[in-house]
Amino acid sequence: IRTIGILGGGQLGRMLSVAASRLGLRCHIYEPGAAPAADVAHQVTTAPYEDEAALRAFADSVDVITYEFENVPTSALDLLESIRPIRPNRRALAVSQDRLSEKSFLNEIGLATAPFADVPDEAALAGAIGQIGAPSILKTRRLGYDGKGQVRITDPATAEWTGAPSVLEGFVDFSAEISVIIARGEDGRVAAFDPGLNVHRDGILHTTTVPCGLPARATTDAVLIAARIANALDYIGVLGVELFVTPAGLIVNEIAPRVHNSGHWTQAGCAVDQFEQHIRAVAGLPLGDGKRYADVVMENLIGEDVARVPELLQSPNTQLHLYGKGAPRPGRKMGHVNRITG
Ligand code: ATP
Ligand code: MG
Ligand code: MG
Repeated sequence: IRTIGILGGGQLGRMLSVAASRLGLRCHIYEPGAAPAADVAHQVTTAPYEDEAALRAFADSVDVITYEFENVPTSALDLLESIRPIRPNRRALAVSQDRLSEKSFLNEIGLATAPFADVPDEAALAGAIGQIGAPSILKTRRLGYDGKGQVRITDPATAEWTGAPSVLEGFVDFSAEISVIIARGEDGRVAAFDPGLNVHRDGILHTTTVPCGLPARATTDAVLIAARIANALDYIGVLGVELFVTPAGLIVNEIAPRVHNSGHWTQAGCAVDQFEQHIRAVAGLPLGDGKRYADVVMENLIGEDVARVPELLQSPNTQLHLYGKGAPRPGRKMGHVNRITG
């Protein structure tokens, strides 16, 4: 494998490209919108997912196709897959693109999720609230991220509709949120990074801390859950698994079939970070072992947080990553810092 095709030109595609370059590989990014973070790739195609000629030329120019963004239309994937392999596979994408199929899949393989009900339209909402109760969270089945497309329901009488087919989830009274970033190679071997403790602010990941501070039993369980998911999907690549910690055990919130924001700490904590790990997996190379050799706090720089860059550049033990996106906007991920704390 010489050239990796990446669907998506955001910061994750950028950092995947950098990792691939370090391994002597080339990257070609395909991005339908503006690709503000993709300028480090060797080649960038800016074209819609409906442009068959552009998709064909992209696929022809690469050896394997991966993605940093899971909401690629099925028609584009069908065409791409007829030319080159897509890793992680289509099933992993299909399952994680849709919260209803995601939760159903997780339950089928014996993993706990929040109780949920399908809410195909507004008329079905009252029945779903009757089943799941309140408090609960209504989430669009597709396209949500950073808490977008979600409505909290505390009073059934005033429940709002999301405007799209949704699932209603029972509210989980968790003590903490953790995530596992796990990789599975072509040969079926898995390598997990240590679970991180995640803190969100306004629905957006704010910090990830490793070690996460949970007892070994819980962290081992979390890794075993992630491995079960990766194996069940016959997965190749890096997978992010978000979990809620509750007195009754771990509950899977959602999965992401790609490198994950809560895995950015690996850049400062591991010899092979999640981006290189993903490139290794999709290129059919042996995986790194995932061992953590530092304590790290990752903090996202969102919107005007970038004003702190001059100060962060002078902070000890601090690794700064900026995505080259230009103007900050509220809620826009501009970069992150990895602070080595031990
Ligand atoms: P991401 O950017 O991680 O993809 P998302 O928009 O897909 O986010 P979720 O991860 O489903 O959204 O939810 C965002 C946050 O809202 C969670 O990290 C958690 O803090 C809270 N949350 C989501 N679902 C529940 C639930 N059922 N019970 C309690 N809190 C929840
Ligand atoms: Mg999500
Ligand atoms: Mg999430």
